[in-house]
Amino acid sequence: MNFFELAPPLAVERLQASALGSFARPYLDYLYEQGYKKDTIRRYFGCISHFAFWATPWRFDLSDLSKLANRFVSEHLPQCRCGDTVMRRWVDQKAALTGCSKIPRHLR
Ligand SMILES: [Zn+2]
Repeated sequence: MNFFELAPPLAVERLQASALGSFARPYLDYLYEQGYKKDTIRRYFGCISHFAFWATPWRFDLSDLSKLANRFVSEHLPQCRCGDTVMRRWVDQKAALTGCSKIPRHLR
């Protein structure tokens, strides 16, 4: 399943331009193989893209992902002004980013 083809072009562009770009596809494939529903994976894609868009100015390393994800959820989401196209649902954001930070190392 290629979730990059199903996602909005702006979300794909933001994700691919970020430090998460190289392992987003293996992560989404991993979720699909684990039995996650397509709608859930699509929402997670939007969450990760939103996070990547916000985090891009920091040029973060993947080893900082967990710390930066916590900051995104606790500081950015409550006052997000990224526009109507981003995914903001707190529950999905937390789940998607927690999954990202726990992703098996071989997928990175
Ligand atoms: Zn935002």
